[in-house]
Amino acid sequence: MADNTMMYPTEEEARTRIEKEREFQADKWGMQMHDNGTWSMILGEEVGEMSEACLREIQGNGLTPGMLEHQIDEAVQIAAVATAWAARLIMKRNHFNQELE
Ligand SMILES: [Mg+2]
Repeated sequence: MADNTMMYPTEEEARTRIEKEREFQADKWGMQMHDNGTWSMILGEEVGEMSEACLREIQGNGLTPGMLEHQIDEAVQIAAVATAWAARLIMKRNHFNQELE
């Protein structure tokens, strides 16, 4: 078993929220078969939303519980999009490998 002593104790909650967000995205958009350029734009849009939330923190009233929750939501959305992109690439790799067999 892997040594998980360097992991954040809150990672389980993060993974649970990412999985829930993935289910939400899959319900909303279905299976997304984008090319890498489109995936990059979707992920970039999510990163931009996170940047905006961070900017509001330093330009506004500082970090509030509501702002922190918003930043967590944005980080979860980034991770969920990256997860879907990775899954799509794994699908392509598996298909590619099958064609070589
Ligand atoms: Mg977002």
